[in-house]
Amino acid sequence: MKIFLQDKLVEKKDAVLSVFDHGLLYGDGVFEGIRAYNGRVFLLDEHIDRLFDSAQAIHLKPPMSKARLTKAVLDTCRANRVKDGYIRLILTRGIGSLGLNPYTCKKPCVIIIAASIQLYPQALYKSGMAIVTAGTVRNHAEAVNPRIKSLNYLNNVLAKIEAIHAGVMECILLNPQGFVAEASGDNIFIVKKNALWTPPTWCGALGGITRNTVLKLARDLGLEAGEGVLTRYDLYTADEVFLTGTAAEIIGVSKVDGRTIGKGPPGPVTRDLAARFTALARSTGTPIA
Ligand code: PMP
Repeated sequence: MKIFLQDKLVEKKDAVLSVFDHGLLYGDGVFEGIRAYNGRVFLLDEHIDRLFDSAQAIHLKPPMSKARLTKAVLDTCRANRVKDGYIRLILTRGIGSLGLNPYTCKKPCVIIIAASIQLYPQALYKSGMAIVTAGTVRNHAEAVNPRIKSLNYLNNVLAKIEAIHAGVMECILLNPQGFVAEASGDNIFIVKKNALWTPPTWCGALGGITRNTVLKLARDLGLEAGEGVLTRYDLYTADEVFLTGTAAEIIGVSKVDGRTIGKGPPGPVTRDLAARFTALARSTGTPIA
């Protein structure tokens, strides 16, 4: 396996970082999770743009241009013969002193891993997934804005720990006002009377790239689809609930906090959108070869 590190491809055993990298010491950095389907990288420009926006928000200047980074992603896929896979693109603050001052770090570090991922068992896509609400509240937007896809995922990890101890694989986080924000690693949608709603980013949601694609697919189908402020009541009483993410794709939710959603298994709107999403993902993207 070859990893892109700094400015070149190296063997996996040589892909090592300094213990003084602020990505490790402080979770100071940003990242993207990207999918490749059928020899193409899906929505690559969108991921590169979001990475640069996250970097801008934390005052980190990427050490290479968007074009160079795009080429590096494709080179890494090619070097690993990835046709269908999952790409992790990371920018750390780089090596600095032990203090948290980011400006002691001279050069951000670029890491690209092209591998594969299976987030949830395939059976859950048919049966739907039970989720619970975590007691951990989503980061306040003026603390660490959830729109920044940062390396600081402890907020999400703490919520995920709660989910696992409750016997489920995913959970919902509410924002400090008590509105639904998102899942620990996915965005959330409800379907009510054939309209789709997902929490606005100001409620504590990442501007998910799958979320944006689903909004567009739904509108192309003639469905009403947009951002809406949601409480848990809206989840409990929805006709359908589903989660979206690059790794998860589209997965139906069968239960929220013990309440069965609709009839339980993913409903017709979720299934239709999932099929359309799969068709789009397998037929578009930036060619690797
Ligand atoms: N929210 C969080 C917290 C995430 O980490 C992710 C990505 N795994 C998402 C939402 C979904 O975003 P995207 O569709 O861009 O992968």
